[in-house]
Amino acid sequence: MDSTALRVVPLGGLGEIGKNMTALRQASGMILIDAGLSFPDEEMPGIDLVLPDFTYVREHASELRGVFLTHGHEDHVGALPYLLREFPEVPVYGTRLTLELVRPKLREFGIKNAELREVRPGERVDTAGYTLEFIHVNHSIPDAVAIAAHTAAGLVVFSGDYKIDLTPIEGGTTDLSRLAALGSQGVLAYFGDSTNSERPGYVPSERVVSNALRDIFDEAPGRIIVASFASHLHRIGQVVEAAKLHDRLIAVTGRSMVRNVQIARDLGYLNIPASMMVEQHEINNIPDRDLVILTTGSQGEPLSALSRIANETHKTIRVRQDDTVIIAAHPIPGNERKVSRVINDLMKRGADVHYSPLKPVHVSGHAAQEEQKIMLSLLKPRYLVPVHGEYRHLRHHFNTAVSMGFPTERIFLLENGSQLEFRAGEARRLQNVPAGMFLIDGASFGDTASDVVVRERQQLSADGMFVVVARINAQSGELLGAPDVISRGFVYMRDADGLLQEAIEVVSSTLQETARHHITDWGELKNSIRRDLSRFLADRTGKRPIILPLIVEV
Ligand SMILES: [Zn+2]
Ligand SMILES: [Zn+2]
Repeated sequence: MDSTALRVVPLGGLGEIGKNMTALRQASGMILIDAGLSFPDEEMPGIDLVLPDFTYVREHASELRGVFLTHGHEDHVGALPYLLREFPEVPVYGTRLTLELVRPKLREFGIKNAELREVRPGERVDTAGYTLEFIHVNHSIPDAVAIAAHTAAGLVVFSGDYKIDLTPIEGGTTDLSRLAALGSQGVLAYFGDSTNSERPGYVPSERVVSNALRDIFDEAPGRIIVASFASHLHRIGQVVEAAKLHDRLIAVTGRSMVRNVQIARDLGYLNIPASMMVEQHEINNIPDRDLVILTTGSQGEPLSALSRIANETHKTIRVRQDDTVIIAAHPIPGNERKVSRVINDLMKRGADVHYSPLKPVHVSGHAAQEEQKIMLSLLKPRYLVPVHGEYRHLRHHFNTAVSMGFPTERIFLLENGSQLEFRAGEARRLQNVPAGMFLIDGASFGDTASDVVVRERQQLSADGMFVVVARINAQSGELLGAPDVISRGFVYMRDADGLLQEAIEVVSSTLQETARHHITDWGELKNSIRRDLSRFLADRTGKRPIILPLIVEV
């Protein structure tokens, strides 16, 4: 590579919400910004986690010099253990809280010697020919930063997840003056958060939530149960403050919630005196009016504490009349139905349930259109690349920039794997690199489930399955008697006698044909059965069930 060029390759986070990861490559080395994961959608049955495809990183492994984290949310750090398992030497840079949230994840993976380097907002790090600068931004978690990378080709700014909160509940306002200073220095390209770009105006301040919580606490006749993201430490902090104001004790349930609350207390991001904390086994000994229960499950995750409380499978907590439940998070697109089910269950059992947007118990951590405009006018970048979002979000960010007079030819709507090269102040697209997704199947945690498994599950749920049992002579490969055919989830058997009879005939003639060619190899026999039967069933029914041939040698 030319020593004045820079390539930026988003490997995740474009065309989707989640698994943010971007590679920067220049002659002196490669760095990554974030290594996030995402959660599967309903078209991936049985899959628990989705990671970015590391192929590009692998191809340039010898150039990898560092991973720089913007903040501690899963969609920015969740893939890190998987990355470090493959590249254990690479140093990881992040702010204090971000690294503390990463540490227990690495421990879970048995990664002990990771090189974690703490950075502070305002600080600069020189590595591999890059100077990286960390700029404080508001988001829904403390210690979030934007990253400005001074590279061989010029200054490139990544917003990370941000909003502009002029009355934040901690940490001060997004460092607008530093962003403005970078702008007057000359920003070559800006990679800006698009999550909320469909939303006009400004995102309300976190303060709004404090007020809403206080009102609900004022009215609550019994216990209060609050569900939030375990990583949403601002929200958790606000619940704690409301509890203090109303003299309520706090119990924490849900594994990740327990862990994050502990980390945040240890680091001083959450101020909960020990005397306020209630152990889980004591929950039922505390008078209802004196208790707040903090829990996970704001997304309706079926195995989360809130879902278990709602469907009465939680081991210690039963929902009851006079309980007040607050769901302090928006459902991530795709989770609406699950959340709705939890709300219904809770209400049926007599709880009073509060959720956004009916009550402002949650505000977004992502900039809306006016904030995006402020960012653009401070940074005055030559190029804009909207990131973090589905295509429609990227497109709205594009529109917002255009409404300010930003030239369309200097906005790039990219996808995962797009390659942008900067050289001599200009940008151009190069050929895409591989950037799919990598699926993690919870049943075999840490192992990978291939696309094949997902396809099979989809096929099973849509078209069912067909089992063929054939007895053949081990020597000659000849079929002994008629094969048995069993189907599940395919067609109702009683209506399908004719079809099944024909299917048996198809299998018989396939095996007569293979016997004529003296084929006795099981693999080949099974493939022949699958091929012929699948063609027949697709012709007759338009369905493609999974076909499972079993060969019994006699
Ligand atoms: Zn975030
Ligand atoms: Zn994010």
